[in-house]
Amino acid sequence: MREFRIAEPKTTDELAALLAETTETAALIAGGTDLIDELKSGVATAGLVVDLRGVAGLAGIAKEKDGGLRIGAMTRIVDLAGDATVAGDYPSLKEAALSLATPQLRNVGTVGGNLCQRPRCWYYRDPEVVCRKKGGFNCYAYQGRNKYHGLFGGTNCFIVFPSDLAPALISLGARATVGSAKGDKTIPLEEFYALPEVDVTRETVLAKGQFLKSVWIPAPKAGQKAVYIKLKERGTWDFALVSAAVAGVVKDGALAEISIVMGGVAPVPWRLKKAEDVLRGKPATEALVREAADAALKDATPMRENGYKANLVFAALKQAVMAVVA
Ligand SMILES: Cc1cc2nc3c(=O)[nH]c(=O)nc-3n(C[C@H](O)[C@H](O)[C@H](O)COP(=O)(O)OP(=O)(O)OC[C@H]3O[C@@H](n4cnc5c(N)ncnc54)[C@H](O)[C@@H]3O)c2cc1C
Repeated sequence: MREFRIAEPKTTDELAALLAETTETAALIAGGTDLIDELKSGVATAGLVVDLRGVAGLAGIAKEKDGGLRIGAMTRIVDLAGDATVAGDYPSLKEAALSLATPQLRNVGTVGGNLCQRPRCWYYRDPEVVCRKKGGFNCYAYQGRNKYHGLFGGTNCFIVFPSDLAPALISLGARATVGSAKGDKTIPLEEFYALPEVDVTRETVLAKGQFLKSVWIPAPKAGQKAVYIKLKERGTWDFALVSAAVAGVVKDGALAEISIVMGGVAPVPWRLKKAEDVLRGKPATEALVREAADAALKDATPMRENGYKANLVFAALKQAVMAVVA
């Protein structure tokens, strides 16, 4: 393991100043369940590791005056899954939290760490392979083994973004607050993620000096229902092959409002706007969901080994939409 320094800021201002001033490559550590692996294997390197655990005010879940729910980046996933407001108002988020990793990892892993985790692509995770994401010139998955890779949005890198929380949060209209020495900035969580064509070396828009402070979810609308469906290869803990987060408002048997975000299919949580357009305002039937999935899949570019994911897109969408309208 390479040597690095550790910094332990106590406030968000100290953290922001430290990140702005350092000339070393800094890595933020939250629960460490992803970062430690990356540092040990050499996939990530850092001269300065900044421990977020002592930073006041980064953890916690609180209802705000506007009726929305603020979730601090350092909130543990176990606490998110066990929160009564999350269970009552945002059951799809609870479902996503409980679906991820193992109880031990959920006890340590945080919401911010989950939203900022790095991809699981086996070429990226292999310290011997210098793929585009690590500054190389090739995406080895493109012509290599790509069973777990993306159907959409790849262009030059075909990772899938592995977080279960991100699709659920985006479907609920979440916004992300990004901290830095210049002050806080709040953006839709959907815009927190960027495709490889923007910058293949990272998955989020976080620039040097910035960190994720919290996410905020609006109060649920009257009649809102939301479901998270995760399709996996194994019955035990596993990352999603395909997941579907669907949130909607049902009126007279039809989805008057609908938001669909999928995981496991693209380098970012993937919004299925074309499928939403097909489903909006009409009574949901299996045939209509098929039409919606087909509309979304027009943008898919399957590779040699991952074409099966197209069927899973339909299966996950069907399960989620039918549960929302039930
Ligand atoms: C065996 C295993 C199975 C897993 N299965 C799943 C699964 O099914 N679904 C799923 O979604 N995840 C899964 N995970 C990933 C797991 O959820 C993440 O490891 C965990 O959520 C990361 O949280 P952490 O607090 O430990 O992050 P860390 O490891 O501390 O950090 C992860 C990354 O996020 C960055 N980071 C952390 N906090 C911030 C912040 N506030 N601002 C900016 N950057 C930040 C770090 O620098 C690092 O790059 C699995 C992991 C393992 C090891």
